[in-house]
Amino acid sequence: MIPALMPTYNRADLAFERGDGAWLYTAAGRRFLDFGAGIATSSLGHNHPHLVAAIAEQAGRVMHVSNLYRVPQAERLAARLVEASFADSVFFCNSGAEANEGMVKLMRRAQAATGHAERTRIVCFDGAFHGRTLAMLSATGNPKYLSGFGEPAPGFDHVPLGNMNAVRDAIGPTTAAIMVEPIQGESGVNDAGPRFLRELRAAADEFGLLLGLDEVQCGMGRTGRLFAHEWAEVRPDVVSTAKGIGGGFPLGAILATEAVARHLTPGSHGTTFGGNPLACAAGNAVLDVLLAPGFLDGVQARGRTLAAALERLIAARPDVYEGVRGHESAAGLMIGLRCRLPVADLQEAALQEELLVVTAGDNVLRIIPPLVVSDAECLEAADRLARAAERLAPTQDRRSAEPVREMAAS
Ligand SMILES: *Cc1c(COP(=O)(O)O)cnc(C)c1O
Repeated sequence: MIPALMPTYNRADLAFERGDGAWLYTAAGRRFLDFGAGIATSSLGHNHPHLVAAIAEQAGRVMHVSNLYRVPQAERLAARLVEASFADSVFFCNSGAEANEGMVKLMRRAQAATGHAERTRIVCFDGAFHGRTLAMLSATGNPKYLSGFGEPAPGFDHVPLGNMNAVRDAIGPTTAAIMVEPIQGESGVNDAGPRFLRELRAAADEFGLLLGLDEVQCGMGRTGRLFAHEWAEVRPDVVSTAKGIGGGFPLGAILATEAVARHLTPGSHGTTFGGNPLACAAGNAVLDVLLAPGFLDGVQARGRTLAAALERLIAARPDVYEGVRGHESAAGLMIGLRCRLPVADLQEAALQEELLVVTAGDNVLRIIPPLVVSDAECLEAADRLARAAERLAPTQDRRSAEPVREMAAS
């Protein structure tokens, strides 16, 4: 018989009762080190006192009023995001897919409103992940996700990431925009790289296209800058973000320049829940932490600690672990660990070591801890990954399997 909860996920047989920082606890008291952060979403970890207090306080006043009225919490959050980014204006919604849908609508609308109604097509990239709504399935382009859902939504062209010739070939008179993740998460933590992003900006300018960046996963401090594109010093026209922006509370956002945003006039786009007082109280609390002096520098520093520990792990177990991804041009706490054994097996072995990590494409483990993680916790995660390797591929001489912590101390 089908479970009451629709079985769209292969869930681990584990339920957590409470959390604290980077740790999650089951009802039976088992304690897990959470280096998945609910898929890069619990940016402040679990039970963060400032976030909890902000949500509880707002819930006790008013949670939802609709967008028929002013929402001061949303006005404040938007103003702070504008102040801290390239953007002039922000639209709030509830998820990454919804943010990307809005980003595509906005880019098409801006083309139409400036005399180019024929420009509707979006250049996307192989390995992209933009969400699970009907149009974003097409933007994602992964045949596995499209299967059985009817005609793919038209208007999305795919080319290999990093290939400017292919991008130029794909651009035609009906192209409206380029849409890219600065760092692809789902397909294996693939860094588009600063040079490629700058070339995309140049191509967009040359052909009159808009550049939309999907920072649903890599944005909101994940790479040690508020947005990952800051590493490339590229000015986008539109950015979508979600995941970490609410610290676990559902919230998404579209950030845009005035030249583009002014075309979403009243009535042209909407959402019932988007940007309600409760969600924006969460967003403001997250931003309080992210924008506090030194916090993002700390994310970079912990990212270096984690990447170095993973490099030592790879050196110690080259039979199991192959390489680190995502630190080519950015830093921070979005790291891919390419594996030589099947990642699903390593994820399971890590679970037995009470470490939570997320799999990605290309046999990569995604290491995406809360942004508040400590150096010691980063070293502990690498130790647990060494023990996970040992479970699957025992070394003859046990001493050679455990040098990660010793080397980390030196
Ligand atoms: C997770 C993700 C999405 C989809 O976000 P949802 O909130 O699940 O709709 C879109 N783009 C990227 C890059 C993501 O990582």
